[in-house]
Amino acid sequence: MNRNQVLPQVELSSHVAGLHKVDLCAHQAYKGRGFLGIQDLPRVAEGASTVESGDGFYWQLETYFEDSPSSEPRQFMNLELQGQIHLVCQRCLRGCSIEIVESRCFALVGSEGEADAFPIEDDQQEPLVASQHFDVLGTIEDEILLSLPLIPKHPEGVCEAHAATFGSDLDKSGVPENRENPFNILKNIKKNS
Ligand SMILES: [Zn+2]
Repeated sequence: MNRNQVLPQVELSSHVAGLHKVDLCAHQAYKGRGFLGIQDLPRVAEGASTVESGDGFYWQLETYFEDSPSSEPRQFMNLELQGQIHLVCQRCLRGCSIEIVESRCFALVGSEGEADAFPIEDDQQEPLVASQHFDVLGTIEDEILLSLPLIPKHPEGVCEAHAATFGSDLDKSGVPENRENPFNILKNIKKNS
């Protein structure tokens, strides 16, 4: 039986300020969604090469309780993330767009000790310590950081195409004067192969 039927479901604020402290020890379930710009996520922003319009992350979260046969009902949290950011490509050092789509499920536990003892039944379910002032925003930011590639790179072939296209027409500041259209980039890939 799902305990949500008897528990009030509370809508989470989509504002950044309201996401810093959420009482996960209250006997209520939460639900919420929103969009976080790169500027709302300072630790994520550190790695951004540029911030372009549309960069940022949609999030959707819900908590729910499930009966457990031997103990108190257990609380879970589902988090879905979808978004994009520009990071520095480690092959050509230009900005590259990285997209992420992630879905995580957490089991909420009462203490660090309980988290350490949490049975690893399923890689997809991680323990999180619930508190009366749980930092939902920090958790979302942690999960974005974990989802980003350690070594961001353009897809295969794109860096070389950049170099071939832009290498000769950089202005004095080192910034390419204009963007080539994708067909020219393709032509250059063929020329160089
Ligand atoms: Zn690259």
